[in-house]
Amino acid sequence: MVPAYFKPYFTPSEFDSPDLPGSGIRMNAMFISMLNKARSIAGIPFYINSGYRTPAHNKKVGGVPGSAHTKGLAADIAVTPVTYGKVLSALLKAGFKRITLTPQQRQNIMKKIADKLTYEEIVLLHKAMNNPIIKNMAIKELKKRL
Ligand SMILES: [Zn+2]
Repeated sequence: MVPAYFKPYFTPSEFDSPDLPGSGIRMNAMFISMLNKARSIAGIPFYINSGYRTPAHNKKVGGVPGSAHTKGLAADIAVTPVTYGKVLSALLKAGFKRITLTPQQRQNIMKKIADKLTYEEIVLLHKAMNNPIIKNMAIKELKKRL
């Protein structure tokens, strides 16, 4: 039986460590609840590239030892240039505090996503990433809107 916190958008198998079928059930309940909230806000499917990882699988894919993935507290979501502004914004609104972007995604944010996010979202993003580039972007955006 699927625990209620996976519903309505996810199933445990989406979070399975590839070397251990059924292990997606080890995802943290609060984390999955927040992900459902974000998914609801975004209104588009979230494709999970990586959820729970056994320590062995985490090592195999080059994850840091003790990675949040091994505790069921991380998920990598596949995004496209078209969807990631929406996904990012929804994750921030749902309350995720730690969001990691690829260097390419950071660059894209500087180029165009700033226009799609509200000032509050940019500030949240800065907090989530603790990144000076994002902070400067937030200040610039604020000046523009004053
Ligand atoms: Zn990850």
